Amino acid sequence: MISYTKQPHEREYRLIFKNIDREGWDPSIDTYMSDGGYDDLKKAFTMAPKDITEEVKKSGLRGRGGAGFPTGMKWTFIPPNNTKPIYLICNGDESEPGTFKDRYIVHQDPHQLIEGMIISCFAVGAHTAYIYLREEFPQAALIVENAIEEARAKGFIGKNIFGSGFDLEIFVHRGAGAYICGEETGLIESLEGKRPYPRIKPPYFPAALGLYMCPTIVNNVESLCHVKHIVRMGGDEYAKLGVARNTGTRILCVSGDVKKPGYFEVEVGKVTMRELLYDMCGGPKDGREIKAVIPGGSSSKILKANEVFKLRNPDGSERELNFWDIPMDFDSLAACGSMAGSGGVIVLDDTRKMSWVLNNLNAFYAHESCGQCTPCREGSTWMRKISDRLVAGKATPEDIETLESVAYQIDGRTICAFGEASSWPVEAIIAKFRDELLADTHENIPTAITNPEAAEQ
Ligand code: NAD
Ligand code: SF4
Repeated sequence: MISYTKQPHEREYRLIFKNIDREGWDPSIDTYMSDGGYDDLKKAFTMAPKDITEEVKKSGLRGRGGAGFPTGMKWTFIPPNNTKPIYLICNGDESEPGTFKDRYIVHQDPHQLIEGMIISCFAVGAHTAYIYLREEFPQAALIVENAIEEARAKGFIGKNIFGSGFDLEIFVHRGAGAYICGEETGLIESLEGKRPYPRIKPPYFPAALGLYMCPTIVNNVESLCHVKHIVRMGGDEYAKLGVARNTGTRILCVSGDVKKPGYFEVEVGKVTMRELLYDMCGGPKDGREIKAVIPGGSSSKILKANEVFKLRNPDGSERELNFWDIPMDFDSLAACGSMAGSGGVIVLDDTRKMSWVLNNLNAFYAHESCGQCTPCREGSTWMRKISDRLVAGKATPEDIETLESVAYQIDGRTICAFGEASSWPVEAIIAKFRDELLADTHENIPTAITNPEAAEQ
């Protein structure tokens, strides 16, 4: 029996995280191969590339980076008459606040990622692949580089893999600490050696015009790991995990005000908010109550505990869904006006002041805006300045309206999704906690009691 140093919760279904924190496990290729590692690669090379893509499509796998776009469908967007080189990029920039899953894979199980990447490259016809790692993962870069050399020594990377005539090189590229390098076109610009200004999409998505204006598939670390399991299980079998349209497993990273935060791999949609936060994370700290949850990384809209959502059934009728009963899947969270995003579940209890939460998020986005387009560059800074005043007890009630107006003027008017990422939290916090924010304006509190330092500025 496998024993774990950190035992997985009984509700977990470990596919991708099977080897994470596993006793006696190390990231070497020998350990990986002693447990069946690279067997799925061998199987993949007995298949036609288009059949691998077909299995990934059948599996229903949706991207685990945040957008939840169907992976197999993305692969088919490479133009059929393409004559240019095709690239595959593994997005390991994991920078969404609240998200901490990919780093464990690259640290503890790098060969799972490399195996998934080689299979994916074979499927899409890419002979060059890059692993883009954020600067803050320096150790991960060394581990992955070492793993690539180990795989090359075994003949899994390089020329004529398994005598198939298929050649592949994989390179590691380290970012320089900017959140926007996680946006796929910003990442591509960065990889080309330029400032990471995101490109306008549509009309051209990377699958058609990406790195060096060649077809480029950009997939998240976790997504690429799933590919090897799909090859082993077959797409149909994989699709039995999870729920309809939300198949497979995914890793949820829970942080904040619960007794036992951490990462949990679950079948998508098979665990509700209540089960995740109470059964798996032990509930709130003693004497506290959960006040709100940001369910899919900082860019997702906040949900208020006990909120009741009105959802539309396929036949047009309506039904109600309580916050605690939301299944943690892409479609359910979207139907509740938020998103499953990158799987980063941030829990806030009743000690958290929403003006502080708002300011914390605004400070992050104002700092990370790449500055290319005016609504985002100026708007994110305005929003931060207003919420700075709010936490200092210097804001007026009208400031809340201005803040809301600025957020709505950013939303939908920027080059990349960062604009929405910065405005959605503001829109949702104001809509759901307006009275609490108003109570922090200076007409209600005479002096700053929340943050004396900011009050002096
Ligand atoms: P998106 O919906 O624009 O695209 C998702 C993917 O599908 C992209 O690879 C895109 O190229 C592809 N795609 C979409 N439509 C296409 C089409 N018509 N033709 C070809 N390809 C198409 O979303 P995005 O801007 O890539 O990502 C936004 C998400 O990223 C947010 O939801 C957020 O949760 C997440 N995010 C994650 C992190 C992290 O650390 N994991 C960091 C920041 C943001
Ligand atoms: Fe840069 Fe923000 Fe514009 Fe995106 S929305 S391109 S991050 S300025």
